[in-house]
Amino acid sequence: MKNLHCKVFGHQYNITRHVTYHVKEYTCKICKKQLTTNGNGLLTELTPKFKEINNVLEYVYFKRINRLNKYTASSRHNRSKTRESV
Ligand SMILES: [Zn+2]
Repeated sequence: MKNLHCKVFGHQYNITRHVTYHVKEYTCKICKKQLTTNGNGLLTELTPKFKEINNVLEYVYFKRINRLNKYTASSRHNRSKTRESV
């Protein structure tokens, strides 16, 4: 009966995971079907293969953000240091 609801009214997707800024995972709150954004920005069924891809994407994405934060923090620090010595 759960699937009938989805057939009649369509799936009711909630975002269940933010992988990157562009890629998210969705779960239908009625039938628990899972979707994800693929490389083309389209929604596709969340297969174990896509889960693996998303894990890698998430890892790379957060690694890059951490590096950027560290860079801005250290460059800001250097700038204020220069200003003090001048
Ligand atoms: Zn559904």
